[in-house]
Amino acid sequence: MAGIFQRTVRLRAAVRHLCPHSTLTCAARLSPADFHSPFLACSSGQFVASTRKLHVEPKSSPAGAPERLPFSKVTDEDLAYFRKILPGRTITDPDLVESSNVDWLKTVKGSSEVLLRPQTTEEVSQILRYCYNRNLAVNPQGGNTGLVGGSVPVYDEIILSTSLMNNILTFDNISGILTCQAGCVLENLSLYLEERDYIMPLDLGAKGSCQIGGNVATNAGGLRLLRYGSLHGTVLGLEVVLADGRVLDCLATLRKDNTGYDLKQLFIGSEGTLGVITAVSILCPRKPKSTNVVFLGCETFEELLKTFQLCRGMLGEILSAFEFLDSECMRLLNTHLKLPNPISDCPFYIVIETSGSDPDHDSQKLDNFLEEAIASTFVTDGTVATEESKIKALWSMRERVTEALTHDGFTYKYDISLPVERIYQLVTDMRQHLGDRAKSVVGYGHVGDGNLHLNITSPAKDPALLAAIEPFVYEWTASCQGSISAEHGLGLKKRNYIYYSKPSQAVALMGNIKAMLDPKGILNPYKTLPDNLK
Ligand SMILES: Cc1cc2nc3c(=O)[nH]c(=O)nc-3n(C[C@H](O)[C@H](O)[C@H](O)COP(=O)(O)OP(=O)(O)OC[C@H]3O[C@@H](n4cnc5c(N)ncnc54)[C@H](O)[C@@H]3O)c2cc1C
Repeated sequence: MAGIFQRTVRLRAAVRHLCPHSTLTCAARLSPADFHSPFLACSSGQFVASTRKLHVEPKSSPAGAPERLPFSKVTDEDLAYFRKILPGRTITDPDLVESSNVDWLKTVKGSSEVLLRPQTTEEVSQILRYCYNRNLAVNPQGGNTGLVGGSVPVYDEIILSTSLMNNILTFDNISGILTCQAGCVLENLSLYLEERDYIMPLDLGAKGSCQIGGNVATNAGGLRLLRYGSLHGTVLGLEVVLADGRVLDCLATLRKDNTGYDLKQLFIGSEGTLGVITAVSILCPRKPKSTNVVFLGCETFEELLKTFQLCRGMLGEILSAFEFLDSECMRLLNTHLKLPNPISDCPFYIVIETSGSDPDHDSQKLDNFLEEAIASTFVTDGTVATEESKIKALWSMRERVTEALTHDGFTYKYDISLPVERIYQLVTDMRQHLGDRAKSVVGYGHVGDGNLHLNITSPAKDPALLAAIEPFVYEWTASCQGSISAEHGLGLKKRNYIYYSKPSQAVALMGNIKAMLDPKGILNPYKTLPDNLK
């Protein structure tokens, strides 16, 4: 206790020395209609994205979707069948179906009249076999927290919700391998594991609602990717029901298995277009014995990057997250959510988390890092959290930016991967490009993963503003060989921009895979792949 106190005082003194207005506090435990080739062949024979204008104006309809494809319409006979196999779980009351038709951002709205709530893989299989034979389109849905319009129907697709598929199947206390149904809510899995001294390898702001099946279907990144890697590494097995109802059992619980093609990888990030994930096995890390969260302020993004470099070098294996937000995010948190700034006003803020197995060792490393960061004037103010509640409070400054944005107006969201040294330049350039046409232009995200969340708000939906943002944002990203979707996927909203980040050969192959696994295209139509797939 005395150690923590002394360390806090020392930090406070050091920071105050640098910033006379410091509010450093010891908060908690330190402890295209026509996609003419957008790619140019270079001399090496590889294909690189050109900077030509690639913007595609999708033809017509809801949220820029193409015309409704010629799927069958649900009949009374269809409903009778669903009611037989899912008694009490075939929902047609419009009031009950309504919330599943609208996405989290309330920017995409379908007109489905049927919500199906299976409990077992066999029921999912029966539903899909029937829908496939009847040529009925299906929209798989998890927690409906997706941000690209992928989780809700575009027209009258049947909504297949996994919410009642929420059983944990097995947990191996030695290997840390968890097997569960796809509808388990991420936070519930975390609580289950924490009681057993383990944690989930992913964490995100939507944890209270998003489901592990949805996480896998979107290849969600989140706050722990820096430390534990992507779901392509931690997911060990999947059970998937294919479009025609066949069950693909790849629910392995082995860390190593090189027998043929690793089929499960195809479904990770496939956004419900290739199959319905019904069960997941995932490798979980041990719960850290010591967790420390630090909230720091920087004067410039260059200093923030220097802090990141220093942090990686000095914290090494205990660094578990390095996130940032800008002063515009802080303004929205203050204004809309009444969250006070825990430190003095700065242009940039950093959230650093360490997690390790030895509190004394971790604290010592963190102290050394903070002293160095302060001495080299990379950071101008900061606070260190040493209690669970304060750790949560500091994390909420980063996790609740998405929520604060929804109160600021209509939000245009971009989730971009860039070389880390370029990530904030896009925000600066966008602000300059838009001038006073936008209400707010904010930047935050996962510095450690080179992932920027660029968000632009306007008082209401504004087509002129959208035309100013796109394709500017995509061209800018392609010019840096970045990705137009780092972690949210393409869904409905970004599907036609895939060529900015993937060569046409790759997109064509994706189309072949889709046609092979779902020849009638009934699974999540109008999503992920571009309208004019060649
Ligand atoms: C506040 C907030 C913070 C967020 N933070 C992050 C973040 O840090 N990182 C990140 O990556 N994302 C983030 N997201 C986006 C979103 O939470 C993730 O994409 C999440 O993984 C979606 O899970 P879900 O269960 O809600 O899926 P849904 O939104 O229901 O569906 C998303 C997509 O997956 C498909 N799908 C869902 N379940 C299945 C299934 N069982 N089988 C096949 N397809 C399925 C749907 O058809 C849809 O295309 C955030 C969202 C919010 C609202």
